[in-house]
Amino acid sequence: MLKNFYAQYAEDDLWMIKECEWVKTLQNIRESQFAQGNGYLGTRGILEEIPRDAKAGTYIAGVYDKLMAQVTELVNFPNPFNFKLTTKGEKLDVNAMDVINHQRILNLKKAVIVRHTGYKNSKGQRFDYQSLRFISMANKNIGVMQIAVTPMDADCILDVNTGIDTSVCNSGTISEGVKKHFRVRELGQAKHAGYLIAETLEKKYGLIYWSGFYYRVGSKKIYAKDNIFKLKVKKRQRVVFTKVFYLRGFLPKKNNNLKALKSAAFKKFNRSFRAPFKNLLNSHIEAWANLWQIADIQIKGTSGIQQNLRFNIYHMLICGHYDNGFSSIGARTLSGEGYKGHVFWDTEVFMFPFYLYARPQEAKNMLLYRYNRIDAARQIAREKGYKGTMYPWESADNGEEQTPTWSKDINGKIVKIFTQKYEHHITADIAHAVYQYYRATCDDKFMNQYGYEIMFAAARFWASRVEFNKKKDWYEINSVIGPDEFHVDVDNNVFTNMLAKWNLIMAAKMCRQLKKTSPQSYARLKSKMGLKSTEPKEWVMIALQFKPLNVNKNGVIEQFDGYFKLTNVIIRKADENGIPILPPTAGTKDMKKTQLIKQPDLIMLMYMLPEMFNKKAKKANYDYYIPRTVHKSSLSPAISSLVASEVGDIFRACHLFNVTLRADISNLYGNTPEGIHAASLGGTWQAVIFGFAGVKMKQNILQVDPRMPKTWDKIIFPFQWRECIFNFEVNNNTVQVRISSAKKKEIELGVFKEIHKLKINKKYTFTREEKQKFWFYY
Ligand code: BGC
Ligand code: BGC
Repeated sequence: MLKNFYAQYAEDDLWMIKECEWVKTLQNIRESQFAQGNGYLGTRGILEEIPRDAKAGTYIAGVYDKLMAQVTELVNFPNPFNFKLTTKGEKLDVNAMDVINHQRILNLKKAVIVRHTGYKNSKGQRFDYQSLRFISMANKNIGVMQIAVTPMDADCILDVNTGIDTSVCNSGTISEGVKKHFRVRELGQAKHAGYLIAETLEKKYGLIYWSGFYYRVGSKKIYAKDNIFKLKVKKRQRVVFTKVFYLRGFLPKKNNNLKALKSAAFKKFNRSFRAPFKNLLNSHIEAWANLWQIADIQIKGTSGIQQNLRFNIYHMLICGHYDNGFSSIGARTLSGEGYKGHVFWDTEVFMFPFYLYARPQEAKNMLLYRYNRIDAARQIAREKGYKGTMYPWESADNGEEQTPTWSKDINGKIVKIFTQKYEHHITADIAHAVYQYYRATCDDKFMNQYGYEIMFAAARFWASRVEFNKKKDWYEINSVIGPDEFHVDVDNNVFTNMLAKWNLIMAAKMCRQLKKTSPQSYARLKSKMGLKSTEPKEWVMIALQFKPLNVNKNGVIEQFDGYFKLTNVIIRKADENGIPILPPTAGTKDMKKTQLIKQPDLIMLMYMLPEMFNKKAKKANYDYYIPRTVHKSSLSPAISSLVASEVGDIFRACHLFNVTLRADISNLYGNTPEGIHAASLGGTWQAVIFGFAGVKMKQNILQVDPRMPKTWDKIIFPFQWRECIFNFEVNNNTVQVRISSAKKKEIELGVFKEIHKLKINKKYTFTREEKQKFWFYY
C-alpha cells in the first residue's frame, strides 16, 4: 500500500502505543487505551467508521444525568468522530472489507492517533485509508480529524456520510440496560457547516456542536456543503478530508438565548475551521510539549517500561483540568463509563499527588470541586445525625451521595452495596489532600478561602462520629468499612481511626496557627461556621483519648477489632501477571471470615501517615499484611509497591510496580473496556517517584533518597514544590538536581540523609558516601 502519509507523527517508539493488527476482541479495550481528551472533553478511541460493537464515548467533565437510572451518571453525548465511506454499498470498515494491513498508533508526545488501514473489497480492489485525529489541548473546544483515502486499483465513487452521530447511549447496567441521557433540541446545516444542540433529559444541560469539513483532491480545497454526498475519485488519486468540530456546553438558565449562543459558537468554530490544519495541529502539539516538560519521567537503561509509564502519565494529562471546581476526575477518567464517572477517594489519594507536583492548578481544582459541594456534605452529615461535613463515598455533580445501594452480580442475583453506609474515611482523605496541597504550595489564599473550612468541618464531623466508650474510657469509631472492602461493618478500623485522629489534631493545629497569623480570616471562619473556641481543644482531647492500637508481640497492628481472630489464610502464589492466586480453601464467599484483604489497609495508612510509624513497625506490618493482600482492586498494587520500596523489599516493589504499570495496557483487571483505572495511573506515578526515586517530605522539607531496582540506570523527572521546579536525575548513589523558580533564590533539599540549601539555576551533584546496601538482593 501507500507509504505513511502521517509518518512524522508515527516515530519514536518510546512515545508510542501501537495496535499492529485489527483484533475484534480487543476493540473495546483499545477504545479506552486510545482515549483522547483535554480535561474538558474526553472521547474514546473508536475507529471513525464506527464498526459494529464499537462503544463510542464523548464526555464533558462534570456533566451527569440521572433520569431512569438508580444513580446519576456521566452522560455519553453525541459522537463527533464519525466518518463513514462506502463505495457501491461496500463500507470501508474493518468488519466489512478484507483488511490487508492495519496499524494504529497513539502518539503520546503529540497526543494524536494516526492510523493506516489497507482494505480490499469484494472485487479485489484495494483502498488505502489513513487518518490522524486529536482533541486540541490548545483550544479546549476543538477537535480535528483528517482522513486520506486512495482507491488503489480503479476509479470509484465514494459515498461520504459524516456529521455528529446521535445514535450513542450510555452502556447502562445489567438492571437498567442502555439508555440515552440527552435529546436533540436542534439540528441543521448552515454556512458550510452543521450544528446540533443536545440537551440532557433531567438537568437540561445543553451542548452546542458545530462541525464542518473540507476536502482536497490534488491542490483544490473544497468546502463540503452537506454531510452526505458523492464524490468521484480516480484510481491512485488521494482525497484528503479534514473535519473540524467545536463544542461548548452551557448550563440551563432562564435567559439562555439559543440563537445567540449558536452564533457565538459558530464564530469560534469558524475561526478554527478556516485556519490551516497545520496550524491547529501545531498549536496542539506545542501545548503538549509544555505539558510533557513538567510531567515526563524518563527511566534509563531498561526496556518495556518507558512507553507504558508515559501511557499512564498521558492518561492523567488528558483528564486534568481547571474549571473552578465544576468537575473533578472520576474513577475511570473520561475514557469510559465504569463507576458511572463517579469521583471516589481515588482522586484525592491516588491521583492528587501527580497533579499537585506537576499541575498544581489542577490539584487545586480537585479541592475546589470538594469545597463547592461542602454544603451537600454538611447535609449528608446532618441527615445521619452528625456534625460538620460528611463527604459522599461516590460523588458526581451536586455532591450528594451517588453510591448505588444495590446491583446485580454476574450470576444475576441482587446484591446489596454497603459502601455508602459504612465507608467514611473519604472525609479524612479529602482533608489529607488539603493538607498536602498546603504543604506543597504554601497557598495561604486558598487555605483562607476554602482549605481551612474543609479541614475544620471535617474535624467537626469526626468529633461527632466518634463514640465514647465509658467502660474503657476511650473514643472509638464503630461500624465502618476501611479501604479493605472485604470486611464490612467493622469496629475501630485503624486506618479510619488514625486518619480521623490526624484530621482532628491537624485541624486544631491549623486553627491555632490561623488565629495567630491571620486573626481576620479566623474571625470570618469562626462566624461563618459558628466555631466555638472550645472546639479545637475538644478535637485534641478526643484525638488523645482514642482507643489504643492492638499490637501483637511481633509489632503487628490489628486492622480492626477481631481481625486477628479470623481464619488465617496466606497467599503463596501469583499468576504470570503478578496477581495473587488464592489458595483453593479460600472461596470468595468466605472472604470476610478470613484475614485476606482486598487492598492495603494498614499498609495504606503507613503510606498516608508515614511519620506515625518507625522503620521497624513498617517492616513488621508490611511483612504481615502483604501475604494477605489479594490485590482485588486496581488501587492495590501501586501503594503496595511504594511501601515495599520503603521497607527495602525491592523485589516485590518491582513485581507489583509491573502490575500497576500494565493494569490497563494489558487489561489485567479484565474491565479496561469500561475505562482506564484512574487510581492506578496516579499510583503508578507515585510508585516511581515516592517509591523508587525515594522522594518524600519530612519536617516540611523535600527530600530524596533513591532505591531503584538495580536494572535501572537512572530516573529523570521534574517535581514542583513551593514555587520551584526541581529537575532531578537520580540513581541509587547519585542525585543531580537543578532548580528553577521565578519567585525564590534558594530552597532547602534533603539528599540521602543530609539537608542542603540550594541556589536556583545551579546544577548540583551529590554522591552517597556509604553505598546503598539494601538492593543487592534484587
Ligand atoms: C466498589 C465500591 C463501590 C460499589 C458501587 C464496588 O465494586 O468496591 O467501592 O461503592 O462498587 O459502585
Ligand atoms: C475499591 C475502592 C475504590 C473503588 C473505585 C473499589 O474496588 O475497593 O477503594 O475507591 O473501587 O475505584
